[in-house]
Amino acid sequence: MVSKVVKVLCPFCGSDKISKNGHNKTGKQVYNCNNKECNHRNFIEQYTHKAYLPEVRNQVLKMTVDGTGTRATGRILGISKDTVTAILKKQKTGLGK
Ligand SMILES: [Zn+2]
Repeated sequence: MVSKVVKVLCPFCGSDKISKNGHNKTGKQVYNCNNKECNHRNFIEQYTHKAYLPEVRNQVLKMTVDGTGTRATGRILGISKDTVTAILKKQKTGLGK
């Protein structure tokens, strides 16, 4: 059996523990994040394919600078180690400032 359900992840923490929460004024699907560690309880589907929001990225980078390990950073922020690695990798290739 092949499930056709598209996997939506929380853009803030990368968790897949989310649930639908109706639609907003513009008709976009709104989701709730059920990750207890996540500070953002709901988000709109359009964010799904975007990179992680600057807030999360900055936090990851700050913690890395402070010497927090990848695994610990992920645990504290409620995102996976792979997500942390991806953020760091992206940061290295896309130097902004
Ligand atoms: Zn979340």
